[in-house]
Amino acid sequence: MSDDVNPFESLQEQIDDAAAYIDVAPDVLERLKHPERVLEANLSVEMDDGSIEVFKAFRSQFNGDRGPYKGGIRYHPNVSRDEVKALSGWMVYKSATVDIPYGGGKGGIVIDPRKYSANEIERLTRAYATELRPIIGPDKDIPAPDVNTGQREMNWIKDTYETLENTTAPGTVTGKAPTSGGSAGRVKATGRSVMLTAREAFEYLGKEVESATVAVQGFGNAGSVAAGLIDEELNANIVAVSDSSGAIYNSDGLDIADARSHKNSTGQLSGYGGASKELTNRELLTLDVDLLVPAALENAIDASIAADVEADIIVEAANGPLTPDADDELTDRDVAVFPDILANAGGVTVSYFEWVQNRQRFHWTEERVNEELERIICDAFDTLTDRYEGTDAPNYRTAAYVVSIERVAHAAKEAGQFP
Ligand code: GLU
Repeated sequence: MSDDVNPFESLQEQIDDAAAYIDVAPDVLERLKHPERVLEANLSVEMDDGSIEVFKAFRSQFNGDRGPYKGGIRYHPNVSRDEVKALSGWMVYKSATVDIPYGGGKGGIVIDPRKYSANEIERLTRAYATELRPIIGPDKDIPAPDVNTGQREMNWIKDTYETLENTTAPGTVTGKAPTSGGSAGRVKATGRSVMLTAREAFEYLGKEVESATVAVQGFGNAGSVAAGLIDEELNANIVAVSDSSGAIYNSDGLDIADARSHKNSTGQLSGYGGASKELTNRELLTLDVDLLVPAALENAIDASIAADVEADIIVEAANGPLTPDADDELTDRDVAVFPDILANAGGVTVSYFEWVQNRQRFHWTEERVNEELERIICDAFDTLTDRYEGTDAPNYRTAAYVVSIERVAHAAKEAGQFP
């Protein structure tokens, strides 16, 4: 884990790494390395005791060449302007990798939400939505959940926007509760694309996924769902999972549903009776497993951890979990890393389905959502691996940037220069 790697610089390095393999002019590329605009706001929120607290909030709109800005909103104490800028850029290249008609954006509020009541979080979310109102909307910028936000916050954003605009516009925000215009399958979508990417990766590399050993770092929405689906649908053997309380391990495989109910009742994975031992975060990341899934926050694996990683395949569920130095180290050591901008794109892809359904005022079944998601992720996987084989790109991440930067640059070129 590295705190001193700036994720925005990591994004720019990833774009530079791909530049050598693309026919894009340097001035066009430079434009694709910076957000178009960033909103910074100070939200004054009334606490339950009547006092006022001020929270710093951001929304970065990175690029809108391929469609409305799109991306989640994060509530976390480590949110910063540069983190939000990086996350918004990753959304641009994620949407382009899976070829859905969106640009990229991201928002964040500097807060530890566990320290606040539901009423305080509601007032904070409505204050944020009020600041965002002029710059969001179904055709402009469409927020969604990210770390520590979910259906509840999205419903409040929708309600605030619709009240202030005196309209109904469910497509202003995605990741809503199904009864408020949310899509079937949205909650599991990020974990589902991680599972699908893992399945395709094993097949592509000629390895057997059934009974393969798997470690998952992070047990939030992405990690816990990915672990469950890799267990149930691929019959792999999840030997370790972790959260901020620590990691649990069992060489015979963990019962993910049971571990989840332990976490739901005690608030943490540590202490789970079905584990044979507990590990540190570093021990989990360096386990000798077939597949490692980092599903927590960015910079989880730096070069020093990467030097000790023993997994053969890494599928990134988190955004930016590897530092650029870790990437270099793993490329040198022939560890196959399938990048975030493909593997966790299920979330934004089903957000896209939600937005399409909202615009049509129509409802898809979960079966249809999952089928369309599978098609999009598998097509993107094939495009990426074809490009990897067709260029000298050193790894799958660079190949994904080659595909996605080209798509964004083409859209920008076709639009022409204005004014
Ligand atoms: N926060 C998710 C991500 O990083 C989902 C974004 C969305 O659905 O717009 O991909």
